[in-house]
Amino acid sequence: MRVKLAGFNIDADIVRRLDPDGGRHLTPETLSAAYARISRSPLAVDQLRKQACLDVEKSRRSNQRIIFEMGHHSVAEHAVFNFDIMGVSRLALEEIERFRLASYTEKSQRYVTLEGDLVLPREIRTPALKKAFVEAVQRQNRFYVKACERLGRRLKRQHAALLQGAAGQRLVEGWAKEDARYILSLATSGQVGMTVNARTLEHMFRCWRLSPREEVRRLAAKLHSLVMPVAPSLILFPEPTAFDREAFSASDEYFSSLPAAVPRARAGRPGAVSGAGPVTVSFSANGDDLILASRLSTVRRLNLAQALSLIQKTSPAQKKRMYREFFRQVQFFSAMPREFEMADITIQASISASCFAQLKRHRMATLLSGEYEPELGCTLPASIANSGLGEEFLRIIDATNGVYSRLRELQGAAAAYVLTNAHRRRILMKMNLREMYHFVRLRDDEHAQWDIRLLAHAVAARVRERMPLAAMMLCGKSRFNEEYERIYQAPPPGIDLK
Ligand SMILES: Cc1cc2nc3c(=O)[nH]c(=O)nc-3n(C[C@H](O)[C@H](O)[C@H](O)COP(=O)(O)OP(=O)(O)OC[C@H]3O[C@@H](n4cnc5c(N)ncnc54)[C@H](O)[C@@H]3O)c2cc1C
Repeated sequence: MRVKLAGFNIDADIVRRLDPDGGRHLTPETLSAAYARISRSPLAVDQLRKQACLDVEKSRRSNQRIIFEMGHHSVAEHAVFNFDIMGVSRLALEEIERFRLASYTEKSQRYVTLEGDLVLPREIRTPALKKAFVEAVQRQNRFYVKACERLGRRLKRQHAALLQGAAGQRLVEGWAKEDARYILSLATSGQVGMTVNARTLEHMFRCWRLSPREEVRRLAAKLHSLVMPVAPSLILFPEPTAFDREAFSASDEYFSSLPAAVPRARAGRPGAVSGAGPVTVSFSANGDDLILASRLSTVRRLNLAQALSLIQKTSPAQKKRMYREFFRQVQFFSAMPREFEMADITIQASISASCFAQLKRHRMATLLSGEYEPELGCTLPASIANSGLGEEFLRIIDATNGVYSRLRELQGAAAAYVLTNAHRRRILMKMNLREMYHFVRLRDDEHAQWDIRLLAHAVAARVRERMPLAAMMLCGKSRFNEEYERIYQAPPPGIDLK
């Protein structure tokens, strides 16, 4: 066996310093070009790589041919880029982070104090609308500062013991910010570090260029101009096609003639709730059996229907024994095997922007979301209500909704910038049980933020009802030991951290 470290991503500033040409001839395209030739060339991979580096222009032509003419887009995945994306709105971050095959780390509103930085959407041009927008956001920000102080004081009184150390102090201040941020607008700026391969990046360009928001379209243009000098041969289809633009046009036109489920102008103040709204969950039929049957099908070479029929005839006691033995060695960080992907779970819920910001980070799922709608009400954190700030919070939400309606009529999609982290949207999310385990471990956990924890908790309870065997260890990591001991009357197996 011969293995070589063929490449790794390094800081572009270092690359520029090392190369007398300012990094112009240093490109990840040679890796794509070399790997693309593996399937047909008799040469060893490291030789192919050497050849690719000797003639960068030839490598570029080869990439274009292989991607464009032969349609092997996957070779573009061998080139990876890192982007520092700064000063973008929370609303834009939602569009930026919706891609599954990319990595993101975002500035969290839980851990930083916001200075009221905001992205003023360029779509809002008329002075009167600009003024209304800025005033609404400033009012929200003033409340944020007030709520941080009030909640901070209250929490410090309640958790005096924690304040002895710096870590405890940060924790308490974090709790205050975590809830105060519900009033911050989606125009609040943030930053993200993004790592992405060339294939996904090209897909991002096609999606972002169709964004209803100018900020996102501008970001696409900026990233495109940064990446093209470095890797011109890998981004070949950055423009949306007619299919991208129009696939849903006819159905959407028909749908717009149907009555809306949520009345557009419901009288009175939209409801304030303190967590995820009603959660609907649906499941694949017989998840417990399906998982065992898929295992049986592969180990005994049966077709799935035969395997399922055998499992259905197996006694409930035997199935329970199999699952108990299966989970006996489980750790809180164990990944469930792929058989668990056979059972699907679909969630529908109305959740706050704050909850959505966290939910969207779970990439191994299908997540569809509607627009934020004031008619869906807002999420009022219990701590705000308990600090006597609930009425003021709701008055600001009312005022925000007023500005939103004006903007919506005149500026369309840009109106959503003025809405807050408390505003809600409807989501539809499909996950398999393998991912559900991962999601619930992280999010129905004592370290998780309460809003997404409520959602994860509600969903986990429903999943355990419907898949009582396969989901017997479905719980947050902070409850893992307790659950294990309840089932096995013994602590979970220890871990050897050598
Ligand atoms: C308490 C808490 C605080 C957090 N704070 C922050 C924060 O301050 N800033 C921030 O940006 N995020 C924060 N997060 C989000 C966190 O970093 C994850 O993005 C989020 O929890 C989703 O987890 P995941 O990536 O494991 O899940 P998924 O995206 O659902 O992925 C599931 C699993 O698939 C695998 N996987 C998915 N994609 C890849 C990939 N590209 N490469 C390799 N393996 C992959 C991994 O095994 C992963 O665990 C926080 C999360 C929690 C629970």
